Amino acid sequence: MADNQLVGGLRCFEVLAVLSDYVDGELDAETKAKVEAHLAGCDACTKFGGEFGAVVGALRQKLQADEPSAAAVLKWATL
Ligand SMILES: [Zn+2]
Repeated sequence: MADNQLVGGLRCFEVLAVLSDYVDGELDAETKAKVEAHLAGCDACTKFGGEFGAVVGALRQKLQADEPSAAAVLKWATL
């Protein structure tokens, strides 16, 4: 397991804990922004194996798009 480095105000395990709520759109705006900031800046999260790594990789691609939107992420998450 990667180190729980602090990025965007959250540590990796904190992001992992709320990731399902994030993709469900159930986070408040402040937490959502922190999760996005963490995922955008944390290489360790993309190195986690399995489903979490795949989710993070997809989210990072969405976040790097010109118009990142929760709707786009939610659409992806339900496919
Ligand atoms: Zn991380």
